[in-house]
Amino acid sequence: MNNIFVYCELTEEKTIADVSLELLSKGRRLATELGVKLEAIVIGSDLKRIEDQVFPFGVDVVHVADDNRLFPYTTLPHASLVLHIFHHEKPEIAIFGATSIGRDLAPRIASALRCGLTADCTSLEIGDHFENKTQTEYKNLLYQIRPAFGGNIIATIINPETRPQMATVREGVMKKEVFDPKYKGQVKKVNASAVLRDEDFMVQIIERHMEASKINIKNAQVIIAGGYGVGSRENFQLLYDLADVLGAQVGASRAAVDAGFSEHERQIGQTGVTVRPKLYIACGISGAVQHRAGMDQSAQIISINTDPNAPINHIADYTIIGSITDVIPKMIRYYKAN
Ligand code: FAD
Repeated sequence: MNNIFVYCELTEEKTIADVSLELLSKGRRLATELGVKLEAIVIGSDLKRIEDQVFPFGVDVVHVADDNRLFPYTTLPHASLVLHIFHHEKPEIAIFGATSIGRDLAPRIASALRCGLTADCTSLEIGDHFENKTQTEYKNLLYQIRPAFGGNIIATIINPETRPQMATVREGVMKKEVFDPKYKGQVKKVNASAVLRDEDFMVQIIERHMEASKINIKNAQVIIAGGYGVGSRENFQLLYDLADVLGAQVGASRAAVDAGFSEHERQIGQTGVTVRPKLYIACGISGAVQHRAGMDQSAQIISINTDPNAPINHIADYTIIGSITDVIPKMIRYYKAN
């Protein structure tokens, strides 16, 4: 069996993006399970010792294409380089982030290779774990797991025929974990000039405007999330007050965002961000499957809801039955005093 490849994205600072480190962590586990190697692809410019950033995640081989025309990302040269590598290496599995870059690049690669692609996965597993493990034709396949039909079912998708088995994976759903800080793999330099042609540079970036978002809830350790039950934008201020006391970030359900109670950048769930904080306090949130998809990996969940039967209470570690307008001021007073 051939190896597992992860396409690694770069941040503006030319470090490996968190989403790619998450995918390498998952890739390492899958590679160990299948008894194959984990390979990374890094494409950019001025990539000084970039391998030092990926080896601790258990990367056996990193393919590095370093050329001043390759940063920031543009579709055509990156696609040509990935295809060049794939033609030579024939990966068994290829994983990309479900980011704007991954969503642009992965379908182009899949289409060029005429293979399938499962977008927006929330989990990847090797097939043996599943009930049909006795069906040998499904053994050792990549089970690509993602919500489907508006989040009402969780679909498991397999690709028994074409290779590589390709998936994009949502940011934040895989745990970023160092495999071995001293792990050392091999660096394979890719000669970009020899691969790329003039037509790969048909699209030129003339100007870039960076909009710094002040809101970043993705890595918050404590999140106070408000739903439609919070009732108004004014009531959301209670959540900010509690967040101040706890050093937390404020998140929101889609219904709260749609009602104008909160900004879209704070939306958690299937069509928002995925979070896994140490503590998630759900305030006036019913717990629809599309919301849970973005927060059910939280270490501890507290629900504050007037309805004892709200679905969120079934996954909460603690439930407080009551109105947020009564409960939150009491919590603020308590935490301020302690
Ligand atoms: P509601 O379901 O209206 O629940 C409000 C809750 O507040 C109730 O449980 C109620 O008992 C409680 N309540 C009322 N008053 C009070 C009070 N004073 N104090 C305490 N509790 C009170 N949703 C997301 O959140 N994120 C997504 O990314 C997302 N993506 C979606 C994608 C698709 C394709 C679809 C179809 C839907 C998506 N949704 C998403 C919407 C989702 O289905 C739900 O409609 C939404 O999550 C409901 O938000 P809510 O829990 O805030 O509101």
